[in-house]
Formats: sequence, C-alpha cells, structure tokens
Amino acid sequence: MPTYDYIIIGAGASGLLLADTLGKDAFFASKSILLLEKDRKQHNDRTWCFWEKDAGPFDHLVYKSWPNIHFAGKEIDIKPSISPYRYKMLRGLDFYKYYLNQINTYPNIELITDEVTTLTEKEDEVIIEGKDNRYTAKQVFDSRFDYEALKQQSDYPVLQQHFLGWFVKSDAPIFDPETASFMDFSIPQKGNTRFMYVLPFSETEGLVEYTLFSENVLQKAEYEEALKDYLENTLQATNFEMLEVEQGNIPMTCYDFASSNSQNLLKIGIAGGWAKPSTGFTFYSTSKKVIALVPFLKTGKPLSQFENKSRYWFYDLLFLDVLFRNNALGSRVFEALFRKRSPQLVLKFLDEQTNLWEDLKVMWACPKIPFVKALLGRIR
Ligand SMILES: Cc1cc2nc3c(=O)[nH]c(=O)nc-3n(C[C@H](O)[C@H](O)[C@H](O)COP(=O)(O)OP(=O)(O)OC[C@H]3O[C@@H](n4cnc5c(N)ncnc54)[C@H](O)[C@@H]3O)c2cc1C
Repeated sequence: MPTYDYIIIGAGASGLLLADTLGKDAFFASKSILLLEKDRKQHNDRTWCFWEKDAGPFDHLVYKSWPNIHFAGKEIDIKPSISPYRYKMLRGLDFYKYYLNQINTYPNIELITDEVTTLTEKEDEVIIEGKDNRYTAKQVFDSRFDYEALKQQSDYPVLQQHFLGWFVKSDAPIFDPETASFMDFSIPQKGNTRFMYVLPFSETEGLVEYTLFSENVLQKAEYEEALKDYLENTLQATNFEMLEVEQGNIPMTCYDFASSNSQNLLKIGIAGGWAKPSTGFTFYSTSKKVIALVPFLKTGKPLSQFENKSRYWFYDLLFLDVLFRNNALGSRVFEALFRKRSPQLVLKFLDEQTNLWEDLKVMWACPKIPFVKALLGRIR
C-alpha cells in the first residue's frame, strides 16, 4: 500500500463533503487521497434539515423545502414565515449517491470499503489498521464517533438529542405542506425537554419525529406510544400507515473534542465536535467547517491548530448547564425565544451569525434566573 497524503475515515456527511471539496480543488490534484468507509451507503438512514437564505449549494439535492415553521408551547402556537430563510431537507441516500459519484470522477481519490479498527500516530505518519488491510497516510481526518470519551469526563455535561421518527401516509389530509413543525412542545414533558418535529411532504405524507434533549434514551415503546398519540390526537389521523422509520442520537455537549487532534490527525463531523451542542444541528455547520478547513490545509499548519472556540460555545455551555440541572426547562427557554423574538432572529442566532447586540436581544428573552445560576456555576 502506498503512503497517502490524506486518509479520510468515514464517507458520511463530513467525510464526503471534505473529499469532494478536496477533489474539486486544483491545489490538491497532486495529492493522493483515500476515503475509507465500512458501509456501502445504500440506505436512506437519515434526513438532513437546515435553514438557508435564498439558493444554496445543496439545492439540487433538496427533497422538500418550507417557507414557514411551526412552533408550539404552553402559551403559543405560531406558524410564521421565516423569509428570507427556507427550511430545507435532503434525503441521506440522495446525498450519498451524488457525492459517491462525484468522488468517483476524481483521479486522485480512492474509495475502499473497510472497517478501521485502530489508528496509530508516528512522528510523520499515521498508520491505520482495517479489518482487511493496513493503510498509511501523512494526515488523517477521522469521522468515527464514540460516546466513550464523553462518558469518561465530568467537566462538561453530556445530553443527547435522541429521536424516533415515522414516515407516515394518511388516508385523509393531516399535514400543512407549507409548514415544517420545528418544535411542538405542546406534548407532555414528563420532567424532560420533549417535542414533536414534523416534516410534511404533502397533505397526506410526512415524517413525524418524537425528540428529546435529555441525559438518557427511552425504551423504544415509549417513543412509539408518543408518536401514535400525537398522530391520532393532535394531527387527527384516523387511518395511517408507516412507510419507513428513522432514529438517531446526537451528542449535545461542549466537551473539547479538539483535544484529541494532533499535528497529523483531525477529528471531523460529530466526532470533531461539529454538532451544535444546544440543538444537534450538524449538517450545515459541517459544510461551513469543510469550507474553512480546505484553505487551512493549504497553509501546512499542524491540524491541531484548526479548531478554535467562539462565543457561541460559551452560550451553548450555559444552555446545557441549565438543561442538565433541570431538564424540564427546555420548553420554557425555547418558548420564551419564539414568543419574544422573531423566528428569523432565533434562526440567525442558532446559526451563529448574529452580532453582539443581537446576541443580547436573544439572551434577554430567556428566563434569567437559571442562566445566571449557570453562569455563576461556571465562574466558580
Ligand atoms: C437520523 C438522523 C437525522 C439527522 N438529522 C439531522 C438534521 O436534520 N440536521 C442536522 O444538521 N443534523 C442532523 N443529524 C446529525 C448529523 O448531521 C448527522 O449525524 C451527520 O451524518 C453527521 O455527520 P458525520 O460525518 O459526523 O457522521 P456520519 O455521517 O455518521 O459519517 C460517519 C461515517 O463513518 C463510517 N464509519 C464509522 N466507523 C467506521 C469505521 N470503524 N471504519 C470505517 N468507517 C466507519 C460510518 O459508516 C459513516 O458513514 C442527524 C443524524 C441522524 C442520525
């Protein structure tokens, strides 16, 4: 086996976006790149949503987009337009097919199906053991994620965004195809942060997801009961069939994922801490990280110098401290935001695009006491 310039472990969202961006860039045409993936990526294992103003780079893959979002809590039930944003959705399988085809067209990128078992860093190379073969690279980008590192530390609370979703088809119209339900907190909270997330594809078809931001996952039957109850009693579905199931578990933590990066190794995607700790949204931020990473690689600096924390990291830390201490507060915080501020400002803030004045406006809308307590806790 040759020594590759770069090996990317994992052909998921971050690995494929990185491989494609390197493949397109003439600067890297002379670099040998290997993409190692254990799976054939033939299943529609997830849907990715994000919001964006106007047209964007993934529009050719967008399955459905919505001009309005629905937010409901104890005191509000609103369906505002989010213009100039649109809430956009991609199907995982469409994404995999498109990017795997793209990668096939780059002569300097090879894709090998193998499961990586160990990774050993030497002074100027990294050795990767796979189940089938051994590989060597000057630099490695690793998107394998493992909860263990998170469990073994206690500096940062770790919550999970966990969900079970049903793609359903109903006999009668039950959805508003123009409105994606961003967060419906009108369901029993049971001491946690629990909401329904609904992506309608037509009046009769959509994805309904029971989502929690909490420390522990539930038994499968509890998600299923909540979904059934919501479909029958809130959406008033009398007759429906389930077409597909989607489930996921995204870490919500401010843990310093970058601490395991080194001169020649960079964790990417969720494994690199690219999921927004307070919401679990990862896809769009990953695309932005990749755009920033490529010019950084051209500088030849050690990979450990790539990541740096922004002020949003600290906001997220306080929010997670609040939710970790009292997991039932999530609905109150989000409801306060959507009641007192425009959805555009909330989305801009969650996208980490606000200026300091806008940050203050958002923070001022939140319940003060829990956040002040969290701030004092961190200062101490
Ligand atoms: C069901 C679901 C829905 C989601 N929806 C959204 C959403 O709407 N919006 C959003 O922003 N985020 C969403 N996310 C979160 C996040 O965007 C995705 O998890 C995203 O796929 C993360 O990208 P990644 O590259 O970190 O990991 P992945 O896309 O999971 O890629 C990792 C890759 O590494 C491979 N791999 C793992 N171990 C090995 C090994 N040992 N050897 C070789 N290959 C290996 C895996 O097979 C996989 O292909 C969702 C997540 C899930 C699970």
